[in-house]
Amino acid sequence: MTETQSILSGFRDRFDRDADGLWFGPGRVNLIGEHTDYNDGFVFPFAINRRAVVALAVRDDRMLRVASSFTDEVVEISLDELSPETVSGWSAYPLGVAWALGQKGADLSAVTGFDAFIDSDVPIGAGLSSSAAIECATAVALDEVWNLGFDKQVLVRVGQLAENKVVGAPTGILDQSASLLGETDSAVFLDCRSFESEIIPLGFDNAGLELLVIDTKVSHAHATGGYASRRASCETGARLLGVSSLRDLTVDDLPRAATTLDDETFRRVRHILTENQRVLDTVRVLREEGPGAIGALLDASHASMRDDFEISVAELDLAVEAARAAGALGARMTGGGFGGSAIALTPHALIPAVQQAVSEAFAAAGFTAPDMFVVRAAAGAARLS
Ligand code: ADP
Ligand code: MG
Repeated sequence: MTETQSILSGFRDRFDRDADGLWFGPGRVNLIGEHTDYNDGFVFPFAINRRAVVALAVRDDRMLRVASSFTDEVVEISLDELSPETVSGWSAYPLGVAWALGQKGADLSAVTGFDAFIDSDVPIGAGLSSSAAIECATAVALDEVWNLGFDKQVLVRVGQLAENKVVGAPTGILDQSASLLGETDSAVFLDCRSFESEIIPLGFDNAGLELLVIDTKVSHAHATGGYASRRASCETGARLLGVSSLRDLTVDDLPRAATTLDDETFRRVRHILTENQRVLDTVRVLREEGPGAIGALLDASHASMRDDFEISVAELDLAVEAARAAGALGARMTGGGFGGSAIALTPHALIPAVQQAVSEAFAAAGFTAPDMFVVRAAAGAARLS
């Protein structure tokens, strides 16, 4: 059975009727620019060839019913009851998007409900944004069936609002921007202050390079703990330095920051300021010298997250070190941190050697075996069929 057939039959099994169509939202890899999004800074992610697919059909009443291949549960709620307080768990992603569309101007009193079935091959909690994949697939589906005509920039904010207010994770616009704006073989250079974005060709293929994802299987939860505390440190740093956001500062402000802030806050701020600079440098180096020359920037980004922002874990550090030692040109953890995946920019011919080196290093350290796969930069969320 093809992917499409199995999703359509999953929809039929749950709802005893046929779907109106299929819409997909890809996961993403962030090539560089971590935790800079909510500091109004720069990010450089791309949509990947792993995605969530939503099969959806409108109803003639006000009920919303959502199901997923990863659970037997079918969650039901009326459009009239929909609010951040009335949905929770995995259904907060698709139902949160329905609610957020209303917040962004859709007249939810004028639409009917829907049945939706989700299937995804984006691993959960691996730092590849399985959450944005579902949000963006749902957002493009509802935009179409509810005839909203929202542009993609608005759908980005819809996904973010669902994640912030309904799921309760204080994330920025990185994930949804990659999932909605991505294009084949290119990355999305995004200014999170102006929301301007530019599609930059990666040229990995021509240079004989692949991007290997190393999923450490250490799963993270952005709604709790470290992510929110890093965000709070950035806000404190900005306030103490007299700016509304860290975007107002550059690496030239580091000496002043060093004398104004306590050591921990300074290191958090230093990560953001240097990471913004690394994103700009990566885009420039890609254009001027090609992808073979960006390795050192990826390495420096990882060191900054490990030492200054302190969001790495031993498994991510080991993945990066082992991949580099086996011939990767550069490697870093990707995503919010505290688990998830590392990426390694690797010459095509060295992929087996890097995979073997990482496997052996994990076994020797007594870590759970990682999952490794190559990803390609793919097109953003759209109707599938
Ligand atoms: P990630 O880094 O993968 O985005 P998150 O914690 O942000 O991690 O989102 C993962 C959550 O998204 C899961 O716990 C689940 O609630 C939801 N999710 C992901 N994939 C699916 C799926 N196939 N079906 C239903 N819910 C899913
Ligand atoms: Mg997520």
